[in-house]
Amino acid sequence: MKSERIYNFSAGPAVLPLPVLEQAQRDLVSLPDVGMSILEVSHRSKVFEGVLARAEADIRELANVPANYRVLFLQGGASLQFTMVPMNLLQEGMTADYLVTGAWSSKAVDEARKIGNVHVAATTKAEQFTRIPRAEEIVLTPGAAYVHMTSNNTIFGTEWKTLPDVGDIPLVSDTSSDMFSRPIDVGRHALIYAGAQKNMGPAGVTVVIIREDLLARSAASLPVMLSYAVHAENGSMFNTPPVFAIYMLGLVTRWLIGKGGLGAIAAVNERKAGKLYTEIDRTGFYRGTAQKDSRSLMNVTFRLPSEELEKQFVKDAEKDGLDGLKGHRSVGGIRASIYNAFPEAGVDTLTGFMKEFERRHG
Ligand code: PMP
Repeated sequence: MKSERIYNFSAGPAVLPLPVLEQAQRDLVSLPDVGMSILEVSHRSKVFEGVLARAEADIRELANVPANYRVLFLQGGASLQFTMVPMNLLQEGMTADYLVTGAWSSKAVDEARKIGNVHVAATTKAEQFTRIPRAEEIVLTPGAAYVHMTSNNTIFGTEWKTLPDVGDIPLVSDTSSDMFSRPIDVGRHALIYAGAQKNMGPAGVTVVIIREDLLARSAASLPVMLSYAVHAENGSMFNTPPVFAIYMLGLVTRWLIGKGGLGAIAAVNERKAGKLYTEIDRTGFYRGTAQKDSRSLMNVTFRLPSEELEKQFVKDAEKDGLDGLKGHRSVGGIRASIYNAFPEAGVDTLTGFMKEFERRHG
């Protein structure tokens, strides 16, 4: 049996930093000075209180979260946020604006429509979501309850380069696939949410950063588990939180701080993605699916001249220890997800493989 690590290009759950995995492994049976595994401690214990407080403090430091924002650790994935956002923030008689840039924002719209009035303020669906809308294409509803966007489109490989100007309307962003990959101006958002399992930790915890004044919108009649106000009042401890996922998220956050923070990791991410896009653009054998000004630094999507060659590419890559390159089943093609923890050496190995594959099949 092989036990050495391969290069994992999975879109999520995705590669985690090796030092984090090693620390978790080292401390799994007994946390230092505790004598129990993190998997065994009560969520009401001092030990876990410390883990939770440290994870929150580190997130606040890393993302420079202003004091009037709450950091919540929830369950149900980003998908539950598609429901919780409108349930809590979309009040009777109001309209929520959605910027629809891919499959996940379309799902968010579908859920919001079950709750209240929705207006699609911009969409690039007619162009198969190959780009982010331009500023002049966005038509907002005056006095909208909020504007919802998806900062990085995991399937289509596009990413907002700057935040849309939404004036005074609260901006809600699904940052599931690029959270902590670059600096984020939390103060320009009303609410940010992200499932951890791409760039921040293992599956099982969703981080929600919400501006305090919005908590007043959560109606008392909401089911308790679906109320931001309830989770905030209880410090994410209304019920048993995902203890292990939060512990891991804390380790990843600390690893990022150790790397120099979001500015430093963004520079690495620019360099990694730049190498791949340069290879894609080199001869025309590979074809990037996202328009150049919208290219994601996290999910690099491209096609080969035929589907047969794409199948061959994925198969041959696997033999070379390059795993998870098959594009999302809804769009096909190739997708290289290169989150924070994905090693630059793996990008170099992939570009080398691409050159060799083109030499053989081009
Ligand atoms: N939003 C985005 C941008 C995603 O990439 C995903 C998952 N791939 C989701 C939402 C759904 O996340 P979850 O599986 O945590 O519900």
